[in-house]
Order: sequence, then C-alpha cells, then structure tokens
Amino acid sequence: MNLILLGPPGAGKGTQAVRLVQDFPIASISTGDMLRAAVSEGTPLGLKAKSFMDAGGLVPDDVIIGVALERLRADDVRDGFLLDGFPRTVGQADALEQDMEETGRKMTAVLLIEVEDEEIVRRVSGRRVSKSGRTYHVEFDAPKHEGRCDIDGSPLIQREDDKPEVVRERLSVYHEQTMPLIEYYDERGLLRRFDGSRSPTEVHDHIRATVATLRLEDAL
Ligand code: ADP
Ligand code: ADP
Repeated sequence: MNLILLGPPGAGKGTQAVRLVQDFPIASISTGDMLRAAVSEGTPLGLKAKSFMDAGGLVPDDVIIGVALERLRADDVRDGFLLDGFPRTVGQADALEQDMEETGRKMTAVLLIEVEDEEIVRRVSGRRVSKSGRTYHVEFDAPKHEGRCDIDGSPLIQREDDKPEVVRERLSVYHEQTMPLIEYYDERGLLRRFDGSRSPTEVHDHIRATVATLRLEDAL
C-alpha cells in the first residue's frame, strides 16, 4: 500500500501517521523530519535547506526530490509507504509519479486532511515537539508532565517555524504551491477527503476505515 498524507501545516498529518503505521505495516516517511535531522546534524542537505525552512518557504524541488526518491528505495519501504509532507508541489508530484512508474509501483490513495486556517494557527502555535520527534499540543494533546516528553522525559520545545509570523507564510505557501495537488490527485481518482477539525481519534477512525477498505479492494 502506497499512501500520501496531504493537508496544511498543522492539520494533524504527523499525528495520524504515527497511528496509521501501527495499523498497517508500511514505512512512515516525513520529509520535514528528514530535513530537521539534516539541519541539526549540519549535513550538506541541512545547510542547503535551513534558510528556506526558517523563512517558512519550501526547500527547492531539485534538492528535495532526490532526497525523497532515494528514501523510497530503502529496504523498509518494500511493503509500502505513508508519505507525510511530500509531494508539496506539482513538480514533486510529477517526479514521484514518474519514479513509481519506473519502479512498477502504484499509488493507493491520497488522504487529504482538511482544516480551516484559523484552527491551523491555534494548533501550530500550541505544538510542542520532543527530540525524538513525538508531537504534543499544550491544550489538545498535553504531555503527562508539563514540558516533558511522555516517552523519554526530554524537554519539549517549540519549532522556530511554528512562531506566528512564519506560520502565516507557511499557510500562504500551502495555498499557492501545495493546494493544486488536490485537483491533481482528484483527477487521477486517488483523493480521499477527511474532516480534520474532529478529534485525533475520530480522524484516525475515519482514515483507518477508508484505508482498510482500499486494502481489501486491492487484494481482490
Ligand atoms: P508541517 O508538518 O508543519 O506541515 P513539515 O515538518 O512537513 O511541516 O515541514 C517543515 C518544513 O520543511 C517546511 O516548511 C519546508 O520548508 C520543509 N519541507 C518539508 N517537506 C518539504 C517538501 N516536500 N518540499 C519542500 N520543502 C519541504
Ligand atoms: P502536521 O504534521 O500536519 O503539521 P501535527 O500532527 O504536528 O500536524 O499536528 C499539529 C498540532 O495540532 C500538534 O500540536 C498536534 O498535537 C495537534 N493536533 C493534531 N491533530 C489534532 C486534532 N485532530 N485536534 C486537535 N489538535 C490536533
């Protein structure tokens, strides 16, 4: 099964990815997490990406496409993937489509999580993350002990690009460069829409039911 999670920053893609890979044996791939790891390790990729990320813009296609397609060739992706944060432009979607054709793979579905802009700002401004990448929300998904990760007790931090000025820029980039992908995948009959304003558990139940049905259809 090969799936894409699509939606604005803060829609809950990462939150749902963590849950879905517990339901289905596929590799969860977040280009945002890969880029943040590269930035914190100071690799050549991280050095190239940092200024774009800090400003709330997209890392250029010619940088990110190679990184994402290489990741898709790893051993753990044999049984399928769940992409979170890629593709984000039509150029990226075209490159992915071509690569999947060449490697004889088929996209199963594109899961769009829809959330209004005002709610996005509330979610992203309350988002806190641990070093391991686990995500919390100060109000909607608070850790057991304030400011500490439930899993390893490490301090929770706010991402630099989750500050309000940068969030507004990320939202406008989403509208201009990523929203065209909704039509792109709708035309291909791959788009499935989910109401992301519901609770994480409700969103998860809906997505899981849809993916389970798709998997059954695929097996027929
Ligand atoms: P969010 O989870 O809030 O949607 P991500 O963690 O996916 O954000 O991405 C953080 C930043 O990393 C983006 O603002 C962008 O600068 C960069 N990035 C991640 N994925 C891509 C991509 N596919 N193309 C270009 N830039 C990307
Ligand atoms: P994305 O990966 O799409 O950027 P996240 O999964 O990181 O989004 O979620 C953004 C913030 O909103 C996090 O703080 C998360 O805890 C919170 N969140 C996620 N899903 C929901 C939901 N359905 N309702 C309320 N808050 C949510």
